[in-house]
Amino acid sequence: MTTLRCWMILALIATFFSPPGYAEIRFRWLSIAGMTLSDGETTLVFDPVFTRPGILHWMGIKTLKPTPEEIGPWLEKANIKKTDAIFVSHEHFDHSVDAPIVAKLTGATLYAESNLAKIARAYQDPAIKIAMFEAAKPIRIGKFEVTPFARDHAHIRPFGIHFLPWPIDDDFDFGFYDYHLGQNFYYFIRHPEGNVLLDQSGSSKYEPPAEPIRALFQGIANRENDEAFISGYLTKFQPKTFVPLHYDNFFWGAPDEVTYLPGIAFERIQKAIETRFPKTEFVHPVFGKEEILK
Ligand SMILES: [Zn+2]
Repeated sequence: MTTLRCWMILALIATFFSPPGYAEIRFRWLSIAGMTLSDGETTLVFDPVFTRPGILHWMGIKTLKPTPEEIGPWLEKANIKKTDAIFVSHEHFDHSVDAPIVAKLTGATLYAESNLAKIARAYQDPAIKIAMFEAAKPIRIGKFEVTPFARDHAHIRPFGIHFLPWPIDDDFDFGFYDYHLGQNFYYFIRHPEGNVLLDQSGSSKYEPPAEPIRALFQGIANRENDEAFISGYLTKFQPKTFVPLHYDNFFWGAPDEVTYLPGIAFERIQKAIETRFPKTEFVHPVFGKEEILK
């Protein structure tokens, strides 16, 4: 047998016995509601926010316009270099404020509808790539298929009010109180290795596609109560992995220091989920740490 033929047979055997595809989907938490999702070839980013407003912002005196110099070091700290696509759930500052700069610094396309596009275009920076999407229309990015679905933004408990519940103004110019709600979306993400549901809202009264969900990334801060949350999300979707989002403090504290939002009762909901759903892996996210979905 010639050496060439020998190598060809070995290559065929190796191909036959090698595991199919790249089986791991990984995520990283970026504080607040921010996270990345990657299959090793394609990296998606959702709601990346590192910027914490200060007292002058809350007083309406200072505009909120992050710079690459402020955001770059946080991307480095979270070990994020190149990414492919960025989505946000809505335009409140604690979800949208850093997305355009993260797009610019990581080379990603910022997927937007009209509200987010107004914020991104206000930078007047051609290095911020924007692609417009429509609700309920799937977007193919590598092996991922991301479908944005519009849904209501929950009112803020315990006050029962909606925070700045308007569209983004056409003349948006980075005023702190100009980061209106815009339009709220949840994301259903299909991948050959399993589906991911990403929802930042606190109300389970919605009907995502009736398909198995491997991982549920769910905002927990604004939940009605633990029981409604558990029956509405955990019992309903039976995810293999559950990752709570939007529970840490976006008023103060650096992104890599977790201080909980007042009244969040994180440990209580964690214990309730872990006790009642032992087959579901409850992941308590750590800033910048890469985790593999179960
Ligand atoms: Zn909001």
